Amino acid sequence: MYKGGLNYTQNSTNFIRYAGLLAPIILIGYGFFATFNNIPVLHIVNPLGLIILSIFWIGLAFLQFFIHSKSRLDSLLRIFAYHLLSGSYLIFVVGVSSPFTAFWILLTIASYVYFSKIGLQLNILFFIIITAIDIILQQGGNQNNTVYDLIALITILITSVIILGIFQSQEIAKKELDESRAAESLQRDRVITIVNNLADAVLSTDIEGFIRVYNAASLNLLDTNISLNGSHIDEILPLINMQGEPISLFKEIKKAKTVIKRDDLKYIFSDGEEMRLEVTFSPIRSSFSRSKKAETHDGYIIIIRDVTKAKSLEEERDEFISVVSHELRTPITVAEGSLSNLGVMLNHPNITPKMLKDGVEMAHEQVMFLANMVNDLSALSRAERGVGNDSEIINVADLAKQMLEKYSDEAKAKNLHLDLDLSPKIGKINASRLYIEELLQNLITNAIKYTKKGSVKMIFENKNGIINFSIKDSGIGISKTDQDKIFDKFYRSEDYRTRETGGTGLGLYVASKLAHKLCTKIQLTSRLNIGSTFNFSLPEYKKSE
Ligand code: ADP
Repeated sequence: MYKGGLNYTQNSTNFIRYAGLLAPIILIGYGFFATFNNIPVLHIVNPLGLIILSIFWIGLAFLQFFIHSKSRLDSLLRIFAYHLLSGSYLIFVVGVSSPFTAFWILLTIASYVYFSKIGLQLNILFFIIITAIDIILQQGGNQNNTVYDLIALITILITSVIILGIFQSQEIAKKELDESRAAESLQRDRVITIVNNLADAVLSTDIEGFIRVYNAASLNLLDTNISLNGSHIDEILPLINMQGEPISLFKEIKKAKTVIKRDDLKYIFSDGEEMRLEVTFSPIRSSFSRSKKAETHDGYIIIIRDVTKAKSLEEERDEFISVVSHELRTPITVAEGSLSNLGVMLNHPNITPKMLKDGVEMAHEQVMFLANMVNDLSALSRAERGVGNDSEIINVADLAKQMLEKYSDEAKAKNLHLDLDLSPKIGKINASRLYIEELLQNLITNAIKYTKKGSVKMIFENKNGIINFSIKDSGIGISKTDQDKIFDKFYRSEDYRTRETGGTGLGLYVASKLAHKLCTKIQLTSRLNIGSTFNFSLPEYKKSE
């Protein structure tokens, strides 16, 4: 039958369907049995009347059993017909005071299930009318029957109230359950949304270590699109420690009593690439756990983060600090030694001015070295922090002349000629002035430093909108093996001629970082004892840009 306003389970409507078929069969069966065996019933109808009533009733019973109601009106008509036929049976066959009146309760339940409170009220009203008709029709008969009819009416009324009470309490419980389910599902959706939007991989395993829940980031981290559900964590995530020994994550997790974080684990992809991981895991203790023991839990939660980049930066930084402090130590020690020697010498009678001058020069040289290194380091830090990142339109010809002016004296001091070869109408560039000046300065000072005779040339030319900046020298040149290393930090050639001059080994490293910031790359061509050319290029600035 079409279900009314109340959403009862399939079981309760099925129960009503069967009862609606069986009850009329039993009642009709009894009606015939009583009629033909002269058992005292009301017998207001004759056997023909009973047969007609039975045909309608049984017909209705089969109809409702086999053909489902299509609409609310259909259900209403069917339930009304049931009331009519049951009422007629009570009035004309067995009487309201008969024990079979108890079957009316079935109609009461059905009315309530399909039409809720209004159905129940109409059902009761119907029963009052039937009782009244029954009493009227029997007037003049047995007085006791009237009393029995009234008792039946009261019984049905009380039972109806009880039914209403039971159903309503069930409804409240069901409503509360539905509400708590809805709240729980919302909560769950919220958590799932959070977990799915996390950049970290989040996996949850059962007590045996089999994956039950995971987020999208887990698949990204493991670079796979295969479902992880039901796979064992050790199978999906075979890990090694820093010594390269295999580690069973599940064994580690099992030992965890609270949240544990480890950042000394690695995962190796099938192509051999290593990924440094930070793994946080903890047991899950559900508030609905079947086991009440404090030390038991319902599985584990694992959060994994790829820290390869962070770790390599951290390691690089640590190494950098250690190299810098090592590089600083020697000049500081030498300068400090020279100065303390000078202090002793000053009070010594046999000290010649030359000895004092040498001491001062040595200390000065080391302090200059320290100053250079600090300059290079601050240029590097500026570039890394992005200070001076702002671009401006720079006239290349002006820049070239400015550089020539700035370093001519330094070249002259070494008997070198600093030349400028500038294409006519070279144009402009849009770049950070600080970066480009520092970059050119590094290349020009190196060229002057590593050239004993000949010249240093600044060749700036514009080739089809690309401005090429070259610093060419006729200096000591760089061997093929050194060419691969000179852009590394703190690298200085072993060549004795390089060692004759002071240097930090940071200049070209800084220059390469600055070139990177300017979105270009330094190219080098060099031949030992012939000379070197460092060059980089930038696009010409056109007004429309
Ligand atoms: P520094 O000049 O302080 O040693 P750099 O990073 O500037 O450090 O240069 C690294 C090395 O590259 C130098 O030590 C030197 O061996 C080599 N080098 C750089 N520029 C030139 C050049 N113009 N000619 C020859 N060698 C050079």
